[in-house]
Amino acid sequence: MKKTYLLTPGPTPVPEVVLASFARPLIHHRTPEFQKLFEEVKSALKRFFQTENDVMILASTGTGAMDAVVSNLFSPGDTVLTLNAGKFGERWTEICRAYQANVIEIVVKPGDTISIEQVRIAVKANPTLKAILFQASETSTGVVLPTREICELARTHGLVSICDAITACGVFSLPMDAWGIDVMITGSQKALMLPPGLSFVALSERAWKLEESSRNPHFYFDLRKEKNASAKNQTAWTPATSLIQGLSESLKLIEAEGYEELYARHERLARATRAGVDAIKLKRLGLDCPSPAVTAVWVPKEIVDGKKIVKTLRDRYGIAIAGGQNGLEGKIFRLSHFGYCSEFDVVTALSGLELVLNELGYSVKFGTAVGAALEVFHQATVV
Ligand SMILES: *Cc1c(COP(=O)(O)O)cnc(C)c1O
Repeated sequence: MKKTYLLTPGPTPVPEVVLASFARPLIHHRTPEFQKLFEEVKSALKRFFQTENDVMILASTGTGAMDAVVSNLFSPGDTVLTLNAGKFGERWTEICRAYQANVIEIVVKPGDTISIEQVRIAVKANPTLKAILFQASETSTGVVLPTREICELARTHGLVSICDAITACGVFSLPMDAWGIDVMITGSQKALMLPPGLSFVALSERAWKLEESSRNPHFYFDLRKEKNASAKNQTAWTPATSLIQGLSESLKLIEAEGYEELYARHERLARATRAGVDAIKLKRLGLDCPSPAVTAVWVPKEIVDGKKIVKTLRDRYGIAIAGGQNGLEGKIFRLSHFGYCSEFDVVTALSGLELVLNELGYSVKFGTAVGAALEVFHQATVV
């Protein structure tokens, strides 16, 4: 018997009440029963996005919503700026190129964020830009980008800001309307604590204006069709009804906790994880701008095959954490701490890590990382 722990930045663990909802008999989607469910979910999603805009629900993973935004807003030859701080920023570039946009890309090295100054310079140098596409939280390296400043800058220059908030929305406060985020995207298997299969996208008035002039081909992902269907509490095509039932449960859990405590918990778990990693003298990526969603850590030089950390945690202890992607494979590992996660998920990850590091030749005094994390949790109760 091996008990398993899912501590990856997507999919994240799914709460029991959400899992149980998948066992309910299916409902048909063109019924008053579904419309009522959809209406409730729709208004809760507006609070989740902190927006008055409609939040559309697509039957796809997060990348589907990214694709939909590019295919619905732009035309071949449009110039766009993508901010590439890692694998997901690179994905914006790839999608825009697939739709024949003229892509200006800012690329930084792993673990670095992109400063507002870098963005300002690129915007000034490219007067034909239409939009800036970026990640609020770059999951592949565990860094945040300056979302608020990027959106302000975009507005000043008449550009549309497009934010992949897939490990940001519902992790930390990202007020779409207050910060003037024109397009915001998230996915089901991240902070919404659901299985993969749904993506969510909201557009501002400015973004809809851009959509009107778009000449890119698209069919299945037609955001205007979705918006019109949503007005009738429907989706354009058959919705992933079971996932939407589960979504209703997860949004209830989130609202029962309250947004303030939700964000505070993620911040607390992130601080404890960082304290634990620092205490055992491992080096983190993104020291100046760590994401509250995930902590990325360099594999110490004492461990030659870095992939063994992830593999041993999984095979010996049943703990799933994430490794590095693309060029970072075997060089980093990532500890996730958002969604259906508590203090003891952090403790589980850090204690497993202490065991595995010792096994693989990086010596740690047992309890050091765990002790540092517990200290953070204790201090949080004292205040
Ligand atoms: C998970 C994730 C995505 C979406 O990936 P899918 O595999 O399509 O769900 C996109 N951007 C970020 C920042 C992510 O963390």
